[in-house]
Amino acid sequence: MKFVPDVAFFEPEALDYPRGRKIEKKLTREGGTEIEILPPNTRVTGLPGCTPQVAYRHSKRALVVRVQRTFEYPSCRPSADYQLPLSGSCPGMCQYCYLMTRFGKKPYVRVYVNVSEILDRAEQYAEERLPESTSFEGAAVSDPVPVERYTGALGETVRHIGARPNILFRFATKFTEVEFLQNLPHQGRTTVRFSINTPQIIRQFEYRTPSLDSRLEAARKVREYGYPIGFLIAPIICSGDWMNEYRKLLMQIASIEPPFTLELISHRFTESARKRIIELFPNTSLPLDREARRFKRGKFGLGKYVYPEYKMESIREWFASEVQDLLPGVEILYTV
Ligand code: SF4
Repeated sequence: MKFVPDVAFFEPEALDYPRGRKIEKKLTREGGTEIEILPPNTRVTGLPGCTPQVAYRHSKRALVVRVQRTFEYPSCRPSADYQLPLSGSCPGMCQYCYLMTRFGKKPYVRVYVNVSEILDRAEQYAEERLPESTSFEGAAVSDPVPVERYTGALGETVRHIGARPNILFRFATKFTEVEFLQNLPHQGRTTVRFSINTPQIIRQFEYRTPSLDSRLEAARKVREYGYPIGFLIAPIICSGDWMNEYRKLLMQIASIEPPFTLELISHRFTESARKRIIELFPNTSLPLDREARRFKRGKFGLGKYVYPEYKMESIREWFASEVQDLLPGVEILYTV
């Protein structure tokens, strides 16, 4: 599932960087993408957007090539110590995307050309925490794999962190173009996790993403390349015969030789995400009934609708027992 944008917008400063020029050359050589250089200090305009759905669809097929200017990296618990902002958004169109309200009405796919500066800043963060190791998450605000064929940013990060014993890197993906990871000197300090769900949920809600089988196949490849791997089951949706469906999923994962880890994330939504999902997918069958949820207040007064505690307890217990049974020795890192 190769991402070829319909249009790519370049900030003029991005072309001052070799990576920016390389991306432009590749897009031009391959064809199929209209290239626009933005005038200085302007925002992207000109994409069709007569309805919210049209604007969303077109922006998911647009690439914006920029210079990263934000060097404050937010914390990324429970996945890692900090976010590593190598890219933003993604060409997938999952109805329950955790970034649904993160990039406004037009969630263009963003890539940053100043990867060395981004990594230098990460090193400063890590130095402040010595002698402890510091971990960075490369998928906090994007799925970074579909754009790797243009940027090479993940590959450079894997190499960079492979040479720094105090830093760990991890990223999660639903995409399967993982061959770039082969033969990189990762030294076991990069962990690649695949975000998966039952085939039915993938079909129903995860538009423009690869199938479960392809993701498991990609996971096998990454394991063969010698990386630590893991699976995120997210979001866990407790509807219908969910136990049976997730049992089948665990049985499919069992075809992969441990060690690997699991991260379990139950379905949740904020009020603004709920409104946005209904706006974009008016016929959605996602369970978005607020009455059936517990409202969990967050740090800044914002909150989200999560499953009630009794249901969370049954998710935790059920997965713990099934994993013990079907995937003995596999560690569940967290269930939220
Ligand atoms: S693949 Fe991940 S980042 Fe992309 S739309 Fe789906 S949930 Fe969002």
